[in-house]
This record gives sequence, C-alpha cells and structure tokens, in this order.
Amino acid sequence: MTITIVGVGLIGGSMAITLKEKGFADEVIGVGRRESSLDKALQLGLIDRKATLETAMKDSELIILAVPVDALMEMLPGVLDRVTDQQVIIDVGSTKEKFLERIKHHPKRGRFVATHPMAGTEYSGPEAAVPDLFEGKSCVLCDGADSDADAVSLVRRMYDVLGMRIVCMDAVSHDLHTAYVSHISHITSFALALTVLEKEKKEEAIFELASGGFASTVRLAKSSPDMWVPVFRQNRHNVLDVLDEMIHQLNHMSTLLKQERYDEFYALIQQANEIRKIIH
Ligand code: NAP
Repeated sequence: MTITIVGVGLIGGSMAITLKEKGFADEVIGVGRRESSLDKALQLGLIDRKATLETAMKDSELIILAVPVDALMEMLPGVLDRVTDQQVIIDVGSTKEKFLERIKHHPKRGRFVATHPMAGTEYSGPEAAVPDLFEGKSCVLCDGADSDADAVSLVRRMYDVLGMRIVCMDAVSHDLHTAYVSHISHITSFALALTVLEKEKKEEAIFELASGGFASTVRLAKSSPDMWVPVFRQNRHNVLDVLDEMIHQLNHMSTLLKQERYDEFYALIQQANEIRKIIH
C-alpha cells in the first residue's frame, strides 16, 4: 500500500516508521510545509519521497493528515473534494468537534475517519519521530458511524499494526475528556515553567536543585506552541471550564495555607491521592 503522510513530524513520522517496518506500507510519500522538514524526513528514512499534496493523493490509497489542528481545519475540505471512493483519509488531531462539524455535510464525508492516537512526547518535527510510540496505548475513533464501513475497517487494521487499542467516542465527548486528561496538564505545566522561570532567574540553581519530581511535572512545558495554541483555540470552551476548576483548587490551597489550616490541607492531599486508583 502507498500511504501519504501530510505533516511528517512527531506523530506522522512515528507512524511512518512502524507502518513501513511492519510491512503495512510499501511506500510512504511525505507532504509538508517547509521543504527543509521534508528533506530531514527523507534523510532520516521516514519517507521514501516527497511530493505536493495533489501528486501524492493521486498515488495513495491512504492519506494521513498529521498537521496541527488549525492547518487540518483549513486543508480538510479541499482534500475531501479530491478523494476517490477507493481512498481513505484520516486525521490524528487532538481536537475533533469543530472540524467534524465543518465537514458534516460534505458528499465525501464517508471516506474520512477521525482518529486521535493518545500517545506523544514533548518534542516535535521529524527528528522527534520514534519507533513504538503507539504500542500498547489507546486511540480514539470519533463519530465512526459517519465513516464508510470499509474505511473504518482499513483504519482499524492500521492501528492494530501500530499496537493500539481502539476506543469509540463521539466528537463532543472526546473534546471534553481530552480537556481533562491532556489539555489541562499542558496548561499547568506551562504555568509551572513560567512561575519557576520568573522567580528563579538564576538558571544554574534550577539545574542543580531540580529533582525528578520537578522534571516530570514540567516536562510538557517543552511542547510546541505551533501544536498547542490551535488545540486551545479549538477546544476553548472545555479548556476554560477545566481551567476555572483548576484555579478554584489553587485558590483553595492558597487560602488553607494563608489561614494555616494544615489538617484540611492534609485531607485534601489524601483526596488527591485517590488518583492512584485510576493511574497506578
Ligand atoms: P509536529 O511534530 O510539529 O509535526 C507537525 C508537522 O506538520 C510538521 O512536519 C509541520 O511541518 C507540518 N505542518 C504544519 N503546518 C502545516 C501546513 N499548513 N501544511 C502542511 N504541513 C504542515 O506535531 P505533532 O506533535 O506530530 O502533531 C501533529 C498532529 O498530531 C496535531 O494535530 C496534534 O494535535 C496531533 N497529536 C499530537 C500529539 C502530541 O503529543 N504531540 C499526540 C496526539 C496527537 P513544518 O516542519 O514544515 O512546519
């Protein structure tokens, strides 16, 4: 099978590695924005050749859109205009509701399958691509009933090759849940990094004293604004709700400390420890 990957970065590049390695793809064509990124992807062996979207689409059975969600929103209607009934298009974007609404009545909607592989790192670009990124993780398949059965079946086989478990969900629930499990953790990590950078002007002190706990909590703050600002923009209403709850929690902790209500703080942490039941 010939596959086109539009956006050969962390997610697109990592998919390319495994899909080629496992023999699911015979050829991977790379499409992108900057020529330099595609050259890097070629050099790293992530893609076999680069092409324009138009040329690549003519030669491919499967087209994977792995660009930031604002670029996805822009390009998807045009890609759907050109797709044939033998081709399948998927996205891997972190938000779903807004752009699925936009293509809801497109005559080729059935050829498109909306997916979100729940795997990633804080790095971006072709150099960030790694093998086995998806192994053992979950992938959300959104509004599957709006996609043609043969398209869904191909996409299920592809994620099976990547080692992912499929979880089916509607787009509205997806955007709500990811605001909680993914988007807010990035916002709090950005906030923590900014707090420390503001208060600790001496970088050497951070290097010397930063322990494992700090490093793991602040890791996500290295993530790219190119990817995250479009996510926050498209999932604004859910992210704002979660953020309000987070601010409420922080204010409550601040009050408890100011008023030296340590017993209540103790109980609050015990309550937070309940997260162990969900994540071991
Ligand atoms: P990334 O490493 O920055 O890769 C994005 C790629 O898209 C880059 O190669 C970039 O090329 C290309 N691109 C950007 N704008 C473009 C445009 N207008 N036309 C064509 N190509 C364009 O980002 P990523 O982390 O792989 O994210 C890709 C998608 O996966 C996003 O929708 C994101 O929401 C989703 N996702 C991310 C994660 C995560 O943890 N990072 C997890 C799951 C899903 P240039 O180098 O030329 O700019």
